[in-house]
Amino acid sequence: MAKRIWNFNPGPATLPLSVLEKARTDLPIYNNTGMAVMELSHRSDDYAKIHSEAKSLLKNLLNIPDNYYILFLQGGASLQFAMIPLNLLSPGSFADYIITGSWSKKAITEANIIAEGKVAGTSEDKNFSYIPKDFDLHAEAKYLHITSNNTIAGTQWHTYPDTENVPLVADMSSDILSRKVDVSKFGLIYAGAQKNLGPAGVTVVIIRKDLVEKARKDIPTLLKYETHVNKDSTFNTPPTYSIYLMKLVLEWVKDQGGLEKMEQVNRKKADTLYTTMDKYSDFFKGAVEKEDRSLMNIELEKKFIAEAVQAGFGGLKGHRSVGGVRVSIYNAMSLQGVEELNKFMINFVMKNG
Ligand SMILES: *Cc1c(COP(=O)(O)O)cnc(C)c1O
Repeated sequence: MAKRIWNFNPGPATLPLSVLEKARTDLPIYNNTGMAVMELSHRSDDYAKIHSEAKSLLKNLLNIPDNYYILFLQGGASLQFAMIPLNLLSPGSFADYIITGSWSKKAITEANIIAEGKVAGTSEDKNFSYIPKDFDLHAEAKYLHITSNNTIAGTQWHTYPDTENVPLVADMSSDILSRKVDVSKFGLIYAGAQKNLGPAGVTVVIIRKDLVEKARKDIPTLLKYETHVNKDSTFNTPPTYSIYLMKLVLEWVKDQGGLEKMEQVNRKKADTLYTTMDKYSDFFKGAVEKEDRSLMNIELEKKFIAEAVQAGFGGLKGHRSVGGVRVSIYNAMSLQGVEELNKFMINFVMKNG
Protein backbone atom coordinates (compact mmCIF):
# COMPACT_ATOMS: atom_id res chain seq x y z
CA MET A 1 0.00 0.00 0.00
CA ALA A 2 1.16 3.56 -0.71
CA LYS A 3 2.49 5.42 2.28
CA ARG A 4 1.07 8.57 3.92
CA ILE A 5 3.59 11.42 3.83
CA TRP A 6 4.18 14.15 6.44
CA ASN A 7 1.66 16.54 4.97
CA PHE A 8 2.27 20.21 5.79
CA ASN A 9 -0.41 21.50 3.42
CA PRO A 10 -1.86 24.90 4.37
CA GLY A 11 -5.44 23.87 3.70
CA PRO A 12 -7.10 21.57 3.05
CA ALA A 13 -4.68 20.21 5.59
CA THR A 14 -3.70 16.93 7.21
CA LEU A 15 -6.28 15.16 9.38
CA PRO A 16 -5.62 12.83 12.31
CA LEU A 17 -5.09 9.29 11.01
CA SER A 18 -7.41 7.90 13.68
CA VAL A 19 -10.20 10.13 12.35
CA LEU A 20 -9.68 8.87 8.81
CA GLU A 21 -9.66 5.27 10.03
CA LYS A 22 -12.88 5.75 11.98
CA ALA A 23 -14.47 7.32 8.89
CA ARG A 24 -13.33 4.33 6.84
CA THR A 25 -14.91 1.90 9.28
CA ASP A 26 -18.16 3.88 9.24
CA LEU A 27 -18.13 4.45 5.51
CA PRO A 28 -20.51 1.87 4.02
CA ILE A 29 -22.71 1.40 7.09
CA TYR A 30 -22.99 4.01 9.83
CA ASN A 31 -24.15 2.85 13.24
CA ASN A 32 -26.56 0.11 12.13
CA THR A 33 -28.45 2.54 9.92
CA GLY A 34 -27.85 0.33 6.89
CA MET A 35 -26.37 3.27 5.00
CA ALA A 36 -23.47 5.68 4.87
CA VAL A 37 -23.53 9.04 6.73
CA MET A 38 -23.64 10.82 3.39
CA GLU A 39 -26.76 8.83 2.47
CA LEU A 40 -28.66 9.73 5.65
CA SER A 41 -31.50 12.23 5.46
CA HIS A 42 -30.50 15.51 7.03
CA ARG A 43 -33.89 15.33 8.80
CA SER A 44 -33.21 11.90 10.30
CA ASP A 45 -32.59 11.30 14.01
CA ASP A 46 -29.25 9.69 13.24
CA TYR A 47 -28.03 12.77 11.43
CA ALA A 48 -29.57 15.12 14.02
CA LYS A 49 -27.47 13.41 16.65
CA ILE A 50 -24.25 13.97 14.69
CA HIS A 51 -25.18 17.62 14.17
CA SER A 52 -26.00 18.32 17.80
CA GLU A 53 -22.97 16.42 19.09
CA ALA A 54 -20.68 18.44 16.84
CA LYS A 55 -22.23 21.61 18.24
CA SER A 56 -21.91 20.60 21.85
CA LEU A 57 -18.32 19.38 21.41
CA LEU A 58 -17.40 22.75 19.92
CA LYS A 59 -19.27 24.58 22.67
CA ASN A 60 -17.43 22.63 25.36
CA LEU A 61 -13.98 22.80 23.78
CA LEU A 62 -14.14 26.56 23.20
CA ASN A 63 -16.19 27.21 26.33
CA ILE A 64 -18.74 29.16 24.27
CA PRO A 65 -21.14 31.10 26.51
CA ASP A 66 -24.91 30.60 26.24
CA ASN A 67 -25.48 33.98 24.61
CA TYR A 68 -23.88 32.77 21.36
CA TYR A 69 -25.26 30.78 18.47
CA ILE A 70 -23.14 28.15 16.72
CA LEU A 71 -23.83 27.82 13.00
CA PHE A 72 -22.57 25.35 10.39
CA LEU A 73 -22.70 27.14 7.04
CA GLN A 74 -21.31 26.73 3.54
CA GLY A 75 -19.44 29.04 1.20
CA GLY A 76 -16.18 29.02 3.18
CA ALA A 77 -14.63 31.88 5.10
CA SER A 78 -14.87 33.80 1.84
CA LEU A 79 -18.66 33.95 1.98
CA GLN A 80 -18.37 35.30 5.53
CA PHE A 81 -16.33 38.19 4.15
CA ALA A 82 -19.61 39.26 2.51
CA MET A 83 -22.21 37.89 4.95
CA ILE A 84 -20.77 39.79 7.90
CA PRO A 85 -21.09 43.28 6.36
CA LEU A 86 -24.34 42.28 4.66
CA ASN A 87 -25.92 41.42 8.01
CA LEU A 88 -24.22 43.94 10.28
CA LEU A 89 -23.87 47.03 8.09
CA SER A 90 -26.39 49.07 6.18
CA PRO A 91 -25.87 51.93 3.74
CA GLY A 92 -24.37 54.83 5.65
CA SER A 93 -22.79 52.76 8.41
CA PHE A 94 -19.24 51.39 8.52
CA ALA A 95 -16.93 48.89 10.19
CA ASP A 96 -13.23 49.03 11.08
CA TYR A 97 -10.78 46.55 9.56
CA ILE A 98 -7.18 45.82 10.52
CA ILE A 99 -5.34 44.66 7.43
CA THR A 100 -2.71 42.01 8.14
CA GLY A 101 -2.60 40.10 4.87
CA SER A 102 -4.46 39.06 1.77
CA TRP A 103 -7.39 37.52 3.69
CA SER A 104 -8.10 40.79 5.51
CA LYS A 105 -7.88 42.62 2.18
CA LYS A 106 -10.43 40.31 0.67
CA ALA A 107 -12.66 40.83 3.70
CA ILE A 108 -12.60 44.64 3.51
CA THR A 109 -13.21 44.54 -0.24
CA GLU A 110 -16.59 42.90 0.42
CA ALA A 111 -17.44 45.43 3.15
CA ASN A 112 -16.80 48.22 0.68
CA ILE A 113 -19.21 46.69 -1.81
CA ILE A 114 -21.98 46.61 0.78
CA ALA A 115 -21.27 49.73 2.87
CA GLU A 116 -17.90 50.94 4.13
CA GLY A 117 -14.83 49.28 5.62
CA LYS A 118 -12.37 51.73 7.17
CA VAL A 119 -8.71 50.72 7.49
CA ALA A 120 -8.07 51.02 11.23
CA GLY A 121 -4.53 49.63 10.99
CA THR A 122 -2.37 47.88 8.42
CA SER A 123 1.01 46.20 8.06
CA GLU A 124 1.04 46.38 4.29
CA ASP A 125 3.97 48.88 4.43
CA LYS A 126 6.24 45.98 5.42
CA ASN A 127 4.66 43.27 3.34
CA PHE A 128 2.47 42.04 6.24
CA SER A 129 5.51 40.92 8.24
CA TYR A 130 4.05 42.12 11.55
CA ILE A 131 0.82 42.72 13.45
CA PRO A 132 0.06 46.45 13.80
CA LYS A 133 0.25 47.74 17.37
CA ASP A 134 -1.36 51.16 16.83
CA PHE A 135 -4.90 51.41 15.57
CA ASP A 136 -7.28 54.13 14.65
CA LEU A 137 -10.49 52.65 16.06
CA HIS A 138 -13.85 54.38 15.78
CA ALA A 139 -16.39 54.16 18.58
CA GLU A 140 -19.22 54.36 16.01
CA ALA A 141 -17.93 51.39 13.97
CA LYS A 142 -20.44 48.52 13.83
CA TYR A 143 -17.61 46.06 14.41
CA LEU A 144 -13.85 45.67 14.17
CA HIS A 145 -12.66 42.87 11.88
CA ILE A 146 -9.30 41.12 12.31
CA THR A 147 -7.66 38.01 10.85
CA SER A 148 -6.49 36.03 13.87
CA ASN A 149 -3.82 34.02 12.07
CA ASN A 150 -2.44 35.09 8.72
CA THR A 151 -2.13 31.80 6.93
CA ILE A 152 -0.14 33.24 4.02
CA ALA A 153 1.98 35.87 5.79
CA GLY A 154 2.82 33.70 8.82
CA THR A 155 1.84 36.15 11.55
CA GLN A 156 -0.67 35.72 14.36
CA TRP A 157 -2.40 37.93 16.91
CA HIS A 158 -1.04 36.87 20.31
CA THR A 159 -3.13 39.44 22.17
CA TYR A 160 -6.36 40.64 20.68
CA PRO A 161 -7.17 44.35 20.49
CA ASP A 162 -9.41 45.85 23.13
CA THR A 163 -12.49 47.20 21.36
CA GLU A 164 -14.61 48.35 24.32
CA ASN A 165 -18.20 48.33 23.04
CA VAL A 166 -17.45 47.66 19.39
CA PRO A 167 -18.00 43.95 18.61
CA LEU A 168 -14.75 42.19 17.67
CA VAL A 169 -15.12 39.98 14.59
CA ALA A 170 -12.35 37.48 13.89
CA ASP A 171 -11.49 35.25 10.98
CA MET A 172 -10.05 32.25 12.85
CA SER A 173 -9.92 29.94 9.84
CA SER A 174 -6.35 28.89 10.46
CA ASP A 175 -6.05 28.95 14.25
CA ILE A 176 -9.42 28.02 15.71
CA LEU A 177 -9.00 25.31 18.38
CA SER A 178 -5.21 25.71 18.32
CA ARG A 179 -5.24 27.55 21.66
CA LYS A 180 -7.62 28.78 24.32
CA VAL A 181 -9.57 31.94 23.53
CA ASP A 182 -12.06 33.93 25.56
CA VAL A 183 -15.06 33.77 23.24
CA SER A 184 -16.92 36.38 25.32
CA LYS A 185 -14.49 39.01 23.99
CA PHE A 186 -15.86 38.51 20.46
CA GLY A 187 -19.04 39.46 18.66
CA LEU A 188 -18.47 36.93 15.90
CA ILE A 189 -15.88 34.25 15.15
CA TYR A 190 -15.78 32.38 11.86
CA ALA A 191 -13.62 29.66 10.38
CA GLY A 192 -13.61 27.52 7.28
CA ALA A 193 -13.09 23.96 8.50
CA GLN A 194 -10.34 22.80 6.18
CA LYS A 195 -7.36 23.97 8.23
CA ASN A 196 -7.97 23.00 11.80
CA LEU A 197 -11.47 21.54 12.08
CA GLY A 198 -11.99 18.95 9.37
CA PRO A 199 -12.44 18.73 5.62
CA ALA A 200 -13.59 21.57 3.37
CA GLY A 201 -17.31 22.15 2.97
CA VAL A 202 -18.41 23.49 6.33
CA THR A 203 -17.79 26.91 7.87
CA VAL A 204 -18.26 27.47 11.57
CA VAL A 205 -19.81 30.78 12.68
CA ILE A 206 -20.07 31.66 16.37
CA ILE A 207 -22.20 34.78 16.75
CA ARG A 208 -23.42 36.69 19.78
CA LYS A 209 -27.20 36.55 19.97
CA ASP A 210 -27.81 40.30 20.10
CA LEU A 211 -25.97 40.74 16.79
CA VAL A 212 -28.39 38.35 15.09
CA GLU A 213 -31.32 40.27 16.51
CA LYS A 214 -29.92 43.59 15.33
CA ALA A 215 -28.94 42.30 11.87
CA ARG A 216 -30.57 43.47 8.66
CA LYS A 217 -33.73 41.64 7.64
CA ASP A 218 -34.04 42.97 4.08
CA ILE A 219 -31.43 40.67 2.57
CA PRO A 220 -31.74 37.31 0.76
CA THR A 221 -32.97 34.47 2.96
CA LEU A 222 -29.94 32.19 2.75
CA LEU A 223 -27.55 35.06 3.50
CA LYS A 224 -29.30 36.00 6.75
CA TYR A 225 -27.79 34.65 9.95
CA GLU A 226 -31.31 34.65 11.40
CA THR A 227 -32.45 32.05 8.86
CA HIS A 228 -29.77 29.61 9.97
CA VAL A 229 -30.31 30.38 13.64
CA ASN A 230 -34.04 29.68 13.36
CA LYS A 231 -33.48 26.34 11.64
CA ASP A 232 -30.35 25.25 13.56
CA SER A 233 -28.30 25.34 10.33
CA THR A 234 -30.68 22.98 8.53
CA PHE A 235 -32.77 25.54 6.61
CA ASN A 236 -31.41 23.83 3.52
CA THR A 237 -29.31 20.68 3.26
CA PRO A 238 -26.17 21.15 5.37
CA PRO A 239 -22.85 19.58 4.32
CA THR A 240 -23.64 16.49 6.36
CA TYR A 241 -20.50 14.49 5.67
CA SER A 242 -18.18 17.42 6.40
CA ILE A 243 -20.01 18.02 9.67
CA TYR A 244 -19.71 14.33 10.56
CA LEU A 245 -15.93 14.43 9.91
CA MET A 246 -15.64 17.65 11.88
CA LYS A 247 -17.40 15.90 14.76
CA LEU A 248 -14.76 13.16 14.66
CA VAL A 249 -11.99 15.80 14.70
CA LEU A 250 -13.63 17.53 17.67
CA GLU A 251 -13.78 14.21 19.53
CA TRP A 252 -10.12 13.72 18.71
CA VAL A 253 -9.23 17.18 20.12
CA LYS A 254 -11.16 16.34 23.27
CA ASP A 255 -9.39 12.96 23.59
CA GLN A 256 -6.02 14.69 23.17
CA GLY A 257 -6.79 16.78 26.24
CA GLY A 258 -8.62 19.78 24.83
CA LEU A 259 -7.32 23.21 23.93
CA GLU A 260 -4.86 23.52 26.77
CA LYS A 261 -3.05 20.43 25.52
CA MET A 262 -3.38 21.49 21.88
CA GLU A 263 -1.80 24.84 22.68
CA GLN A 264 1.04 23.19 24.59
CA VAL A 265 1.86 20.80 21.74
CA ASN A 266 1.44 23.48 19.10
CA ARG A 267 3.85 25.74 20.95
CA LYS A 268 6.39 22.92 21.18
CA LYS A 269 6.05 22.21 17.45
CA ALA A 270 6.50 25.87 16.52
CA ASP A 271 9.40 26.34 18.98
CA THR A 272 11.18 23.33 17.48
CA LEU A 273 11.17 24.86 14.01
CA TYR A 274 11.75 28.49 15.01
CA THR A 275 14.75 27.42 17.11
CA THR A 276 16.33 25.72 14.10
CA MET A 277 15.51 28.70 11.90
CA ASP A 278 17.17 31.09 14.34
CA LYS A 279 20.16 28.84 14.81
CA TYR A 280 20.77 28.59 11.07
CA SER A 281 19.46 31.99 10.14
CA ASP A 282 21.68 32.24 7.05
CA PHE A 283 19.75 29.31 5.64
CA PHE A 284 16.29 29.81 7.03
CA LYS A 285 15.47 33.44 6.96
CA GLY A 286 12.07 34.04 8.54
CA ALA A 287 9.87 36.57 6.80
CA VAL A 288 8.09 38.00 9.84
CA GLU A 289 8.75 39.83 13.14
CA LYS A 290 9.59 37.37 15.91
CA GLU A 291 6.99 38.62 18.37
CA ASP A 292 4.22 38.16 15.81
CA ARG A 293 5.26 34.74 14.57
CA SER A 294 2.46 32.33 13.87
CA LEU A 295 2.31 29.07 15.76
CA MET A 296 0.40 27.62 12.82
CA ASN A 297 2.15 28.67 9.60
CA ILE A 298 5.90 29.11 9.57
CA GLU A 299 7.57 31.00 6.76
CA LEU A 300 11.07 29.95 5.67
CA GLU A 301 12.87 31.56 2.80
CA LYS A 302 15.21 28.95 1.37
CA LYS A 303 13.81 26.73 -1.31
CA PHE A 304 14.49 23.22 -0.27
CA ILE A 305 11.19 21.83 -1.37
CA ALA A 306 12.40 19.39 -4.00
CA GLU A 307 14.68 17.55 -1.56
CA ALA A 308 11.97 17.58 1.08
CA VAL A 309 9.53 15.88 -1.28
CA GLN A 310 12.11 13.15 -1.91
CA ALA A 311 12.38 12.68 1.85
CA GLY A 312 8.63 12.26 2.31
CA PHE A 313 7.44 15.75 3.25
CA GLY A 314 4.71 17.54 1.34
CA GLY A 315 2.72 20.75 1.24
CA LEU A 316 5.71 23.00 1.97
CA LYS A 317 5.45 25.37 -0.94
CA GLY A 318 4.72 28.98 0.09
CA HIS A 319 1.58 30.65 -1.22
CA ARG A 320 1.98 31.71 -4.86
CA SER A 321 1.79 35.37 -3.75
CA VAL A 322 4.75 35.02 -1.37
CA GLY A 323 6.92 32.15 -2.62
CA GLY A 324 9.53 30.44 -0.46
CA VAL A 325 8.64 27.73 2.01
CA ARG A 326 5.73 27.58 4.41
CA VAL A 327 5.31 24.91 7.07
CA SER A 328 1.70 24.60 8.22
CA ILE A 329 1.47 22.77 11.52
CA TYR A 330 -2.16 22.71 12.54
CA ASN A 331 -3.45 20.56 15.40
CA ALA A 332 -3.46 17.34 13.40
CA MET A 333 0.26 17.55 12.52
CA SER A 334 2.02 15.52 15.18
CA LEU A 335 5.09 16.60 17.12
CA GLN A 336 6.79 13.58 15.53
CA GLY A 337 6.12 14.94 12.04
CA VAL A 338 7.60 18.29 13.06
CA GLU A 339 10.63 16.62 14.63
CA GLU A 340 11.25 14.62 11.45
CA LEU A 341 11.11 17.81 9.41
CA ASN A 342 13.39 19.53 11.90
CA LYS A 343 15.96 16.76 11.47
CA PHE A 344 15.68 17.12 7.74
CA MET A 345 16.24 20.89 8.02
CA ILE A 346 19.35 20.45 10.15
CA ASN A 347 20.70 17.79 7.77
CA PHE A 348 20.03 20.13 4.91
CA VAL A 349 22.14 22.83 6.56
CA MET A 350 24.94 20.35 7.32
CA LYS A 351 24.99 19.15 3.72
CA ASN A 352 24.85 22.59 2.17
CA GLY A 353 26.50 24.78 4.79
C1 LIG B 1 -8.05 29.68 4.00
C2 LIG B 1 -8.48 30.97 4.59
C3 LIG B 1 -9.58 31.67 4.07
C4 LIG B 1 -10.37 31.21 2.87
O1 LIG B 1 -11.18 30.19 3.20
P1 LIG B 1 -12.23 29.55 2.15
O2 LIG B 1 -12.90 28.54 3.00
O3 LIG B 1 -11.44 29.00 1.02
O4 LIG B 1 -13.14 30.64 1.72
C5 LIG B 1 -9.94 32.84 4.71
N1 LIG B 1 -9.26 33.31 5.78
C6 LIG B 1 -8.20 32.66 6.29
C7 LIG B 1 -7.50 33.21 7.48
C8 LIG B 1 -7.77 31.47 5.71
O5 LIG B 1 -6.72 30.81 6.23
